[in-house]
Formats: sequence, structure tokens, C-alpha cells
Amino acid sequence: MNLMPEKLIHELSAPGRIGVSLPDCDVPATAIPPGLARASLKLPEADELTVIRHFTRLSQKNFSIDSHFYPLGSCTMKYNPKVNEQVAGLRGWRDAHPLVGDEFSQGALELIYKLQESLNEIGGFAVGSLQPAAGAHGELSGIFIIRAWHVSRGDLKRTKMLIPDSAHGTNPASCTMAGFTTLPVPSDAEGGVDLAALKAALAGEAGKEIAGIMITNPNTLGLFDRNIEEIARLVHEAGGLVYGDGANMNAVTGVFKPGNSGIDVMHFNLHKTFSTPHGGGGPGAGYVGVRKDLGDFLPGPIAAKKGDAYALAMPSKSIGRVKSFYGNFGVLVRAYAYVRMLGATGLRRLAENAVLNANYLKVKVEKSFKVKYPRRCMHEFVAMGDIAPGIHTLDIAKRLIDYGFHPPTIYFPLIVPEAIMIEPTETEDKETLDAFAEVLAKIAEEAVTNPDLLHNAPTTTPVGRLDEVAAARNPMLCFRG
Ligand SMILES: *Cc1c(COP(=O)(O)O)cnc(C)c1O
Repeated sequence: MNLMPEKLIHELSAPGRIGVSLPDCDVPATAIPPGLARASLKLPEADELTVIRHFTRLSQKNFSIDSHFYPLGSCTMKYNPKVNEQVAGLRGWRDAHPLVGDEFSQGALELIYKLQESLNEIGGFAVGSLQPAAGAHGELSGIFIIRAWHVSRGDLKRTKMLIPDSAHGTNPASCTMAGFTTLPVPSDAEGGVDLAALKAALAGEAGKEIAGIMITNPNTLGLFDRNIEEIARLVHEAGGLVYGDGANMNAVTGVFKPGNSGIDVMHFNLHKTFSTPHGGGGPGAGYVGVRKDLGDFLPGPIAAKKGDAYALAMPSKSIGRVKSFYGNFGVLVRAYAYVRMLGATGLRRLAENAVLNANYLKVKVEKSFKVKYPRRCMHEFVAMGDIAPGIHTLDIAKRLIDYGFHPPTIYFPLIVPEAIMIEPTETEDKETLDAFAEVLAKIAEEAVTNPDLLHNAPTTTPVGRLDEVAAARNPMLCFRG
């Protein structure tokens, strides 16, 4: 963290300092029209080196994977190999223009086709589309597919979607956007779907209004629901479909194929598991895969192979386009490079190491924090921040910043009070995990001996503890000197 005194670029300005040398004007000078002329624009005046230092310093105030450990649960902030960037930056990909037509886009279409095939194989799905631009966008597409399937069978009463109470917030949001009403399903003592509650929701006349269930496995508690096949069987028996939220496949790639466990429709976040950079609102991609008889409903176009040639094709009963052209093509190139680089063995090792790292860290963290479900976890686990009187999860998260760690996801999942959701990912080494666990233990000690260190954190950043409510209600979005 940079502790140099903070100055605004305007404060670094001094009259007459310039950072550019323009050539002499070689066109006739023209007066600025009267209404447009201003005496001064009050622009800062600074030399090139000052400007470079100023903006480089600002850029270093950010947290990023390339600079810091980033254990943001559910988000899989893993290291994204730089070779992916080099591949995506190759001229043939970077400058590809979607309007040149299939004939001149064979390379791009082949890549899309092969990535579709790879992801179908990883997920255990018959077909898939790479159109959606994000996880939530994949969910929305998948829910549209479920609706279209029921409508195609003339089953118009199915307007309700079951969602376990541990689900990511995008699940109920996607269902609502697609016109469904959501019904929460409670979790059982093990952190999985409560089967008795599920059976009750599917029973009798009410069960005929259920379009399906949206399930995340492993779920956001980092736990694998061993009843997944039974859950799918119950929902299918009641006439519904099973949607799988596969935003985070980090624990199961190459190990478990969701499509073989009864899941009918599922999305993956390429910008989580498949290593394309995200955070800060960067581009993503949300592959959506389905079982064979749902393929006709996929969003399109999808890439198809005809003889030796590749072409874009619209599935016959498609829910339509959800994104322009090829989707977020640059993201697809990165994901394909990653999948090919790892291969089947590498994808499996990725998952094994993600689970190993999470369990290693969990055992260490359990020495100073309660972990809600202490059984073996998958890619992440959820600890609780109520470690001392008057101390909250927010205080711990802010104190972590003082020690140079990005805080984990906090206050989610909603069913764990004072939740701290930690996902170390497979790309961190033992030393980093040890250092993080040590700092958490130290913070737990400070919580008792000097709680104000936590209450006042962060103290090493340009901006200290914010009034988060005021910041949300009255955001200051422009510079005010
Ligand atoms: C990240 C995530 C999503 C949403 O993905 P976006 O790309 O942010 O829309 C959905 N479900 C789960 C479990 C996630 O972790």
C-alpha cells in the first residue's frame, strides 16, 4: 500500500508546466467562435513525469489478483494465466469482424464450436450455447428455456420456481425477470436441500404449478449435496425441470458431471472457473448447456459443423438471441486456451487442488473462527465473524485490508449469520494460505485485546471506514475540487 501524501492532479499543477510538445501549427489559425470561447478551462498544468507518477500511483491503489490474495468466496478470483491474454490478443481473433460472414470466419467458428464441445463434455450436456454474456444472463436464458419447454407441452400452469435458501441472489432475480414466482426451499442441518420440505412443495395440486428447481451444487456454503439425484428425481416426477447454477465449477471440473446427476439445464461462468479475468465489471460469458431434447430451445446462434466447415445455426425453437454476434468472443478465446492448456487431467487437478486448498485453510481458520458446517468442504467454506462482543464480520473484513488481503465475501450466504465466505482457489501456494490464516488468528486476538483496531479499520488506505449507507444513498460520482 502506498503511503505517500495524496494529492489531486490539480494540486500538482504549476503554471507553465507542460507535458506535450506540439509541432508548429501548419494550418491557418481561425478564431474560436464567440459563444464557445472561454477565458480559461482551468486545466491542470503538469509535466509528463508528474502525470505518469500520479496515475501510476493511483493504479496501484487497486487490489487485483496480480498483486494480492483475493479469497472472495463464490467468485473464484483465481490467477488468470497471461498466455490467455496473449492468445486473445492475436490479430486473427482480436480484429475478427462478425459481419464478414461464416466463410471468412472459419477459425472463429471452429473455436466457438470446439469450446461448446469441451464445455458440453465437462458438464455432461448434449448441447450448449455460448451466447450469454454473464452468469446471471445464462440463468435468465436457462429459465427461458424451461418456460419454453413447458409452454411447448401446453403446460401453462407452471409459474413457480423452487430455490434453496442458500442460493445466490441472481437466482431469484433471474426467475423474477423471466416472469416466475419464486418459492424458497429451506436447508437441512447438513446444509443441503431439506428433502421433506421439497416433497411437501411438490405434492398435490400445488406441485402442478412448479416449473422446476434452481439448484447450486456444490452450493454457496461450499458443500456438495449428496442428494442431488434424489432431488432431481422428485422434481422430474412432479413434472418440473432441474436448473443447475454452475457459476462456480471449481470444485468439480473433471470429477463430477452435473448433466449425469439429473440436471437438465445449467450455466457456467467462464469468468470464474474457466479463468477469464473478472471483477470491476469486466466482460464475462455464461455458457448454457442442456440435455438433448432441450437443445432446440437454446439461445442462438450456436456453432455447428457441416462436413469440414463450420457455420452458425439457430436452434429450431430457440428462445432467440440474447447477445449480439458471437457473444463476448474475446472471453471465449481465453477460456478455450485455458481448457486446452489444462486438458482433461489438468481440469481434474484444478478441482482437486481447489478442494485441497479450501480444506487446508478451513482447518487453520477453525482454530480462531467458528465454521458453520464443519464437514469437509468443496472449493469454499463459510466462517462466522462474531468472535468477540461488539465485533462484526464487517470489522474483520476491513481489518484484513490493513494487512494487505482482499476481504472474503461477507454476509452471504444469507442463512449464515455474520458470514465470511472464503474461497482460496487452486492457484495459491501454501505460504500464502498460511499467512492469511495467521493474520486471521491475529485479528481474532485483536478483537479481544484492542477491538478499536477493528472498528477503525482500514487505516492504511487513502479512504478509511466509509459510511456505507450514505455512500449508497448519496453517491458522489464526479470530481469536486
Ligand atoms: C457469480 C455467481 C453468479 C452470477 O454470475 P455473474 O456472472 O456475476 O452474473 C450466480 N451464481 C453463483 C453461485 C455465483 O457465484
